Amino acid sequence: MNVVIVEDQKDLSALICQQLEKAGIHVSPAYTGEEAFEVIDPELHDVIILDRGLPDMDGLDVLKSLRQDGFKMPVLILTAMDELGDKISGLNSGADDYLVKPFEMEELIARLHALYRRPSETINVKLEYGNLVFSPTNNELRINGEAVQLTVKEKDALERLLRLPERVVGKDTLQSMLYGYGEEGSQNSVEVVIHRLRKKLKDAQCNLEIKTLRGIGYLIREKD
Ligand code: CA
Repeated sequence: MNVVIVEDQKDLSALICQQLEKAGIHVSPAYTGEEAFEVIDPELHDVIILDRGLPDMDGLDVLKSLRQDGFKMPVLILTAMDELGDKISGLNSGADDYLVKPFEMEELIARLHALYRRPSETINVKLEYGNLVFSPTNNELRINGEAVQLTVKEKDALERLLRLPERVVGKDTLQSMLYGYGEEGSQNSVEVVIHRLRKKLKDAQCNLEIKTLRGIGYLIREKD
């Protein structure tokens, strides 16, 4: 799961990032409404956590703009106790859930998983490319109709590559995505994951290949 946290309190944002990464959820932080528009990528992000009290605008206005621009991913609003009366207006602006500060981290993680599983236009999409079909919601990979088993890291790497086929994904991006806080990971371990993934694709006679751009990263494309 790839999440964006839009929260201007840097210590709270860092704590949330750390705890979510520990739970295997990849997080990109944004600290203002303006930054949120730069960071949020509809191809990549599954759920947005959006604080109401941002320095440059109300989180609800960020939400309205996202919905107007056709962004359909679930949005969880963070709201202070004294803004609670506004929770209905939050849900009317297109939020899918809200959480009142202060909250337990376990609660936030549970809500994110519930939102991620909730069928919606954005997350129910199957990634189909070549003779491969990957369904991120139930982690199912089929090549030529045959199921192929992947480890969590292989799955995450494949999903990231498939979301932007024929476009380079940086090695450092993969590294920070696959290895969160407190987990040992190096560029070398990314290579190992890609190596195993390649072998599984090859063994299943996949007509796609993962190409290495030395010193830059990887891309997935159809074989010539
Ligand atoms: Ca705030």
